[in-house]
Amino acid sequence: MKIEPFRLPGVSEERPLIIAGPCSAESEEQVLTVARSLSQMGIRIFRSGLWKPRTRPNAFEGHGSAALPWLRRVKEETGMYVATEVANVKHVYEALRGGIDIMWIGARTTANPFAVQEIADTLKGVDIPVLIKNPVNPDLELWIGAIERLYHSGIRRLGVIHRGFSKYEQTAYRNHPQWQIPIELKRRYPELTIITDPSHICGNRENLLQVSQQAMDLNFDGLIIETHPDPDNALSDAKQQITPDQLKLLLSRLVLRHQEVDALARVTLDELREQIDQYDDQLMNLLERRMGISEKIGEYKRKNNITILQTRRWDEIITSRVKQGLEKGLSMEFVTKIFEAIHQESINHQTAVMNKQDEPVSDTTQK
Ligand code: PEP
Ligand code: MN
Repeated sequence: MKIEPFRLPGVSEERPLIIAGPCSAESEEQVLTVARSLSQMGIRIFRSGLWKPRTRPNAFEGHGSAALPWLRRVKEETGMYVATEVANVKHVYEALRGGIDIMWIGARTTANPFAVQEIADTLKGVDIPVLIKNPVNPDLELWIGAIERLYHSGIRRLGVIHRGFSKYEQTAYRNHPQWQIPIELKRRYPELTIITDPSHICGNRENLLQVSQQAMDLNFDGLIIETHPDPDNALSDAKQQITPDQLKLLLSRLVLRHQEVDALARVTLDELREQIDQYDDQLMNLLERRMGISEKIGEYKRKNNITILQTRRWDEIITSRVKQGLEKGLSMEFVTKIFEAIHQESINHQTAVMNKQDEPVSDTTQK
């Protein structure tokens, strides 16, 4: 795929690209009020959901096509581009007829290849920018699959929205950011525009700045932030929406660091990175030696008929390593993950040793 950067005439190419507007279009007045304030701040892209994917029925499901004329008025009055979510063929037709400039595919839809393919087929031959939210589940290939489906339909002005991933456990986030996923996406497709959605990642107002800052520090391209004239009384996502004034404050607090570094910074960074490379090298050597010991243990256990997994020993390891890790300023989650992975790899090495010494089954059956 040769994806082009997500550019729109009249929209500054400077980072960050900002998209703002309410979670849902609730009334003509609500939409126009917030659009006017945003437009005065210089924001050029207006978001608003018309068809709302709600978790449970009987919640506010959006005004659908009836709200399209409100967005047309936003365009006429402010000259902003208007964006909305489409989840099926009907939405696509109606959005196109209603003058929508940018479509986005929601997280629940991206997770469904049938739905994405249907949307892609409907957009064949249409030159419209499309943004693809990550699927609700942390599956990078599924996200890339959706991008490919749109790309193969001829859509070239493609971008993605990182809105975090569902987790069954309660965490500090509504949707866990799992930054390594969009980072890997950017590594594979450096030209792809990545817009972070702090609103749906946080699910609250308090952490919006911190998540927005993190997105900028990772050099992502833009932010989509839910903005409402009266957030507390919003019909959807009330807890996470902010007023245009609060958005203005948030944007003014963002620190944009340069990607290009000057000569002194480069030398300093290079030196520090060299140290990291050396430590990683030592880590690898240590791991190699540790696995060597596991193999010796495997041989010993085989000769003496002892099972590979001995729960008490594993309990001791994890408890003592977590304690040691905490003393060294490492989080429990990190130490647990690392040692679970090391333990699994040790078991694999021990198993390999034991299997190597087994006589092949085919030989014994032929005797
Ligand atoms: C939204 O942007 O309002 C929305 C429903 O988002 P998501 O698909 O990320 O849940
Ligand atoms: Mn929302």
